[in-house]
Amino acid sequence: MVRANDKTANNRTPRELNRSLVLDLVQEHGPISRTNLARLSGLTKPTVSAIIEELLDSGSVRDVGTESRGGRPARLLEFNDDSAAFLGIEIGVEQTAVAVADARGRLRARLEQPTVLRDPHRTVRDIVELLPKVLQLSGVPRKRLRGACAVLPGLIERPSGVCVLAPNLGWERFPVRAELSRALRMQVPVYNLPQAAAVAEGELGAARGHASYVWIYVGLGVGAGLVADGRLFFGMQGYSGEIGHCRVADDGPPCGCGRRGCLETFASVMALRRAAEAASARSPQLAALARPHAVSAVASAALAGDESARAIFHDAGAQLARGIAVLLNLLNPQLIVLGGELLAAPDILLAGVRDGLPRHAVRGADVPVVASPLGSEAGVLGALLLAREGAVRSLRLVPDGVLQDIAP
Ligand SMILES: [Zn+2]
Repeated sequence: MVRANDKTANNRTPRELNRSLVLDLVQEHGPISRTNLARLSGLTKPTVSAIIEELLDSGSVRDVGTESRGGRPARLLEFNDDSAAFLGIEIGVEQTAVAVADARGRLRARLEQPTVLRDPHRTVRDIVELLPKVLQLSGVPRKRLRGACAVLPGLIERPSGVCVLAPNLGWERFPVRAELSRALRMQVPVYNLPQAAAVAEGELGAARGHASYVWIYVGLGVGAGLVADGRLFFGMQGYSGEIGHCRVADDGPPCGCGRRGCLETFASVMALRRAAEAASARSPQLAALARPHAVSAVASAALAGDESARAIFHDAGAQLARGIAVLLNLLNPQLIVLGGELLAAPDILLAGVRDGLPRHAVRGADVPVVASPLGSEAGVLGALLLAREGAVRSLRLVPDGVLQDIAP
C-alpha cells in the first residue's frame, strides 16, 4: 500500500509493528492457527498468542472453531470484517459521493447527489445529510466508523487542510478539513483527487506491486498524483503534481490560471471542445461534436471510426505526451496510469501518447502508459483506502520484501 504520511516503521514500537503484522496475516490468510501465524510472521508462539488475545478483545479477529489434521486440534482465527467501517467522500464537479467500506476496505454502500457549485457550505450540509442514509444502506451503525477521508479536485494546503483553490468547484480558501470534521464530528483528512486516485490504483488497480508510478487525471484539467518509492509525494505545501500548468507553447490558448499555452489548454475537456468546434466548422457532419456533451459525442464518433474525431483524441494524446515526458525525465517511474473524462476513447488517446513520447522523453518512452481500470471510481476508492490508512495502523510486505508501514 502506498503510504500517504511521513511516519516510518522507525516511529513505531516493536509491539505495534508485531500487532500490525499479525493482523495483516490473519486478514490475508485466515482462518489460520496461532502456530501458522508464528511460522509466517517469524514471531514466537507466546508473542503471537499474546497479540491474538488483544485482537480478540478488540474484536478485530474472531475465533471460528477448531481444525484437527492428524495432530492436536488447533483453534482457527479469522479477520472480522465487521470490526470497523470507514467513510470515503468524493466531492466532484458533477456529483458528491459518500461511501462506506468495511474493515477490509471493501465497498459496502455508496450514495451521491449533484454538487451545487460555488457553495462549499452547502456541499458540507449535503454530505451531513447523506451520511445517515448511506450508513443505513450499508447496515453499518455509526459507532463502527473508525476513520474518514474526503477527496476533491483542487489544491489542498498541507498541513492546514484548507482548499486553497478548486476552480472547477468554484471554491477558494475554504477550510474544508475543519468544516467537514466539525460537521461530521470526526477527523476528515482531505486529499486532492489525483493523489487519492494514485493510492487506489496502487492497492486495487493497474499500479499494484509498483513502488514508483504516476496517476494522471485528464479531464476538466490535468493533474498528477506522484508515488515515489512507495509513498505519495506532496511537496512543501501539498501542491505537487500540477502538471497541467506546464507551459508547452509560448503563444498557446489562454489558460484558467491566467497564463497561456499550459498543457491543459491542449489536452482536457476544454481543449477537446475547442477542437470539436473547429472540426465542426470545417465539416457540417461534425456539427454535433460542438454541443455541450462534446467529450462523449466525439468519443462515440471516434469509436465509430470518424477520422476527424479520431484525430481530436489522437492529438490530445500527443500533446499530453509532452507533460508525461516531463514526468518520465524527472521521476523515472515504472508506470503511468491515466484517468478522467478524456479516457472515453482510451485506445486512441493512448496511441497519441505513444506516438508523441519519443519526441519529448530523453529515455523511458517505453514506460507503459495505461488507462485506469478503476475509471471514475478511483477517487472514492482512494478516499476509503486513505480513511482506513488513517485509522488502522497496518504493516505490509511490499513486493521487494522490505517491511513498510502505513500509519496515521
Ligand atoms: Zn495554466
